[in-house]
Amino acid sequence: MGAARRTPSAPRDIAIVGAGPIGLEAALYAAALGHRPMVYERLEAGANIRRWGFLELFSPWALNTSPLGLAALEKQGLETPPGDACPGGEEYCDRYLGPVAASLGDRIRTGREVLAISRAGLLKTEAIGSPERANRRFQLLVADRRGEMKTAQSDVVIDASGVYRNHGNLGDGGIPAPGEEALREKITYHIPDLLGADRPLYEGRTTLLVGAGYSAATVLESFTKLMETEPRTRLVWARRDSRREPIELYENDPLPQRDRLAREANRFACDTPEGCEALSGFVTSSLERVDERVAVRLNGASETRTVEVDRIISMTGYRPDTGFHRELQVHLCYATEGPMKLAAALLGGGSGGDCLERAELAGDTLLNPEPGYYIAGRRSDFLLQAGIEQVRDIFRLIETDESLDLYEETESP
Ligand SMILES: Cc1cc2nc3c(=O)[nH]c(=O)nc-3n(C[C@H](O)[C@H](O)[C@H](O)COP(=O)(O)OP(=O)(O)OC[C@H]3O[C@@H](n4cnc5c(N)ncnc54)[C@H](O)[C@@H]3O)c2cc1C
Repeated sequence: MGAARRTPSAPRDIAIVGAGPIGLEAALYAAALGHRPMVYERLEAGANIRRWGFLELFSPWALNTSPLGLAALEKQGLETPPGDACPGGEEYCDRYLGPVAASLGDRIRTGREVLAISRAGLLKTEAIGSPERANRRFQLLVADRRGEMKTAQSDVVIDASGVYRNHGNLGDGGIPAPGEEALREKITYHIPDLLGADRPLYEGRTTLLVGAGYSAATVLESFTKLMETEPRTRLVWARRDSRREPIELYENDPLPQRDRLAREANRFACDTPEGCEALSGFVTSSLERVDERVAVRLNGASETRTVEVDRIISMTGYRPDTGFHRELQVHLCYATEGPMKLAAALLGGGSGGDCLERAELAGDTLLNPEPGYYIAGRRSDFLLQAGIEQVRDIFRLIETDESLDLYEETESP
């Protein structure tokens, strides 16, 4: 039993940005093929998932792990998690991502942030779209925790930096609303632990929740529980859309926890609990401090409302960090900031589809004009499974072998 080992076409230095589940998976895949991966992680392995580690994933273990990862666990004498159960975020990090990171030994460097990447000896504007660029190595500028900087070289870069670091804004069309920057300490842009550490900030107080995706639905679920134990807790839920039921359901959703979250949120919208308000068709136009509270102006099609709240939870999405590859010829979609070819394929396929189905898209959609630079994961609406499959597809491109599939070759424990 265990991971298959292959001889690669030519062993290469592969730099991987980020030790989230997808970066770690890329490192496992590279190592199993006999390449020399090096993962640079600004915090610790699984850092972005630990931020919401108090929540349960809505996808089961089987969809959040890979045969290579499970083989790494087995090699350390660790138990294989039950495929059909959904892990907690912390549990996923402790039982899976941590041991996977440990299996990589000195191939992972934590506390190292990739600040910039170039092609040694070539400017962005030189050898445009030319394979000649592949003759030069990548050069990475990496900072450690003390801010000390070093350069590192690689033949290939896999960008698995995720999106959870860069949040969206409250204002109309995605820009910050006037007053938003000044009142940052009153706003949270990441899902708070409402039933745990962050409870004192929200219990018995009034909160404005903005957004209508799965993150907002998750917040609503926790708020409902909080209100049961402390009935003076109030919530105003404001969203841009005017749909009666804001969260789209997937027909026969194979992920029952996701389905439940969406249905509960839609119920909240239609049958709002006493003491709460659900405002549809409103955008945030400004924020102003009123003593210890915040007065938020919300513009609707036919009326303007001002709500006075203690705190705001902004669930307005997350964006990739495109700054560190600015000196490369990376072609990003002008709408999604994802890799252009992949974005075009998704849009062409009517991207309203279920993220579970998107794993089907592959092949050269992951190529971009900068040879050897690949972007994996990095969409907030992708499930882990889609990212894991992208890793397989990226190595098909690296190895120029369309049939390469280590997941098939690896015996699952
Ligand atoms: C609340 C919530 C619930 C979710 N539930 C599920 C679920 O149930 N099932 C599911 O499949 N998906 C779920 N997702 C989505 C899932 O978390 C993501 O798809 C997944 O984390 C993507 O993994 P990643 O490795 O691409 O990115 P991340 O997990 O975001 O990891 C990126 C890593 O890169 C590091 N990094 C960033 N920039 C740099 C840099 N410049 N230099 C060095 N390191 C850097 C970060 O510190 C981080 O560790 C959920 C997401 C959220 C927010």
